[in-house]
Amino acid sequence: MRSARTIFFGSLVMMAVLLGIGANRYASLDEVVISRAETTEKVVAVTIDDGPHDKATPHMLDALRETGIKATFFILGKSAEEYPDLVRQAIADGHEIATHGYSHRNMARMSRAECEEEWEKAERILAELGAQAKLFRPPGGAYGEALVKGAKERGYHVILWDVDTRDWQVPSADTIAERILADVRAGSIILLHDGQYPIHSADALRKVASRLKAEGYSFVTVSEMLGISGEAE
Ligand SMILES: [Zn+2]
Repeated sequence: MRSARTIFFGSLVMMAVLLGIGANRYASLDEVVISRAETTEKVVAVTIDDGPHDKATPHMLDALRETGIKATFFILGKSAEEYPDLVRQAIADGHEIATHGYSHRNMARMSRAECEEEWEKAERILAELGAQAKLFRPPGGAYGEALVKGAKERGYHVILWDVDTRDWQVPSADTIAERILADVRAGSIILLHDGQYPIHSADALRKVASRLKAEGYSFVTVSEMLGISGEAE
């Protein structure tokens, strides 16, 4: 049986590990992975992952146009290759283009070289479409120290979310809207998807947009919310 003292010191060691105590700059991942903006200003960012998709993305672009929301699209390189015109439309509509890698394979399990290839391939496709992403969201939200370090060194800000709608499980638009309204706060980053169809995220956005605006919220892109400039840092 373990003594109380052993458990106490064991806990201290565990806490030190969890808190990232040590020389490694990236040990405390919370400092470099962004889930929301620290602000009391009523701004929120709508983020849309996994597209473009030939059916879901046009619906989403329509909803964004109708509601006047500028969103941030975390584009999949391989899908952009397939539907470049939808990326061009998103750019023309004034949305922010960010990267979600190329293949949507779990990058937390990849070697550095494989990660670089994912970024490189996605960057090349976006560059052809006239976009340069400053933000990266790891596929599946899966990340570790090495992936975050690699992304930072490539010049990306690593963006997660704090409002998870689980819209990809295809709940109703009402359910997605309720989840957004329940969890949203100043500085929130809302996670939606446009990589599959049917999906009710566009209708959910229509439902929450006027309500949130009436509550004093304004919708901005992630870079706008975080004060990230257009210039490479
Ligand atoms: Zn994804």
